[in-house]
Amino acid sequence: MNTLLDRFLSYVRIDTTSDATSTTVPSTAKQLNLSKQLKAELEDIGAHDVKLTETGYVLASIPATAGKEKAPTVCFFAHVDTSPAYSGTNVQPIVHKNYQGNIIQLPNDPNQILDPNDPMQPTLQSAIGKDLITSSGDTLLGADNKAGVAIIMTMADQLLSGSSLEHGPIRICFTPDEEIGRGVDHVSLEEIGADLAYTIDGSALGELNWETFSADGAKITIEGVSTHPGTAQKYGMVNAIQVAARLVSALPVEWLSPETTNTYDGFVHPYLMQGTSAKMEIQFILRDHDNDKLAAQGQMLQALCDAFQAAHPTARIALEITKQYRNMGYWLRDKKKIVDLMQQATEAAGVTPSIVPVRGGTDGSRLTEKGLPTPNIFTGGHNFHGPLEWVTVQDMEKSVETVLQLAALWGNETSVD
Ligand SMILES: [Zn+2]
Repeated sequence: MNTLLDRFLSYVRIDTTSDATSTTVPSTAKQLNLSKQLKAELEDIGAHDVKLTETGYVLASIPATAGKEKAPTVCFFAHVDTSPAYSGTNVQPIVHKNYQGNIIQLPNDPNQILDPNDPMQPTLQSAIGKDLITSSGDTLLGADNKAGVAIIMTMADQLLSGSSLEHGPIRICFTPDEEIGRGVDHVSLEEIGADLAYTIDGSALGELNWETFSADGAKITIEGVSTHPGTAQKYGMVNAIQVAARLVSALPVEWLSPETTNTYDGFVHPYLMQGTSAKMEIQFILRDHDNDKLAAQGQMLQALCDAFQAAHPTARIALEITKQYRNMGYWLRDKKKIVDLMQQATEAAGVTPSIVPVRGGTDGSRLTEKGLPTPNIFTGGHNFHGPLEWVTVQDMEKSVETVLQLAALWGNETSVD
């Protein structure tokens, strides 16, 4: 029989890195290798309505137990892709059974060291005495979000194999391309047919999230005046590189950068600058939990552009802002039951819940905005998107228990509100 650990180890070995530069759906065909396996596994454990859609979503149902058919339908989401930020090719997971807090040097890259006494890795202490899973050092592990996939699959298996737990109708959705911000681009809420949902894509044991950032992208384009450098003074060269460098230096780094902010403070983060003395492009992400403060970030960039334009009237400086996603808290603060029940379920699983605002987004940010309220539940994973990523079997088990308790709690309800 497949255990939670077997499932997790089998999923992480499948390369599912997504690719932001690709225009195909899903962005990489290799994600389907896992999606196809999940479809077969769902059929195997007896899930209903199992389907792999043309756009790469795996859907399934678990019917309500007798008498619970009228309860709200809950959907559980996890994503199959891993972040393009680090290699996900040939992942070789290592299980450190009953981890004793020793320093671990990962075998395929001796520079990758897990040390519970390192002040930069404070959470590793919580893994002592548990079965710790790491990568071998030259890839990420992929607990983000294959831990979530394994947790949902194990929950489904338990509910479908004669568990006495009573619950309402349940839907399952495994999405592609979450890491490149396209996870819900092709979701049909009608086809999912749920009243509410949870992503199982969070981090530390007990951590629950119902607030995320609101997010915009910004692009500043600077067209300079290009002349031969030998006659630049005569013909009024404006070097776009010089203007771009000064514009970036004028940003208030001390209080508005990712590296200088925490908790509820937002940031303006330039992440790409490219071009020539004739034309430069600067790409930013803008982030804040508050929509008005997010808008103020855009206004600040506009004021900077205006000032530089005034100083260089022959150049052309343009700002373009693109909406990305909005803080799910704007909708969820009125959906108390959805948040309360996930806290109660966590407690029922013997775990102390802690509500943490996400300094980023989840698939739930856009699902919630689209009309499907979707907060986020812990998987137990840590150090996502890098070679030091880890998770423990015991923390994943607690997430399975939380999700089962949540299914039971919703089975007693007749409405979402
Ligand atoms: Zn994730």
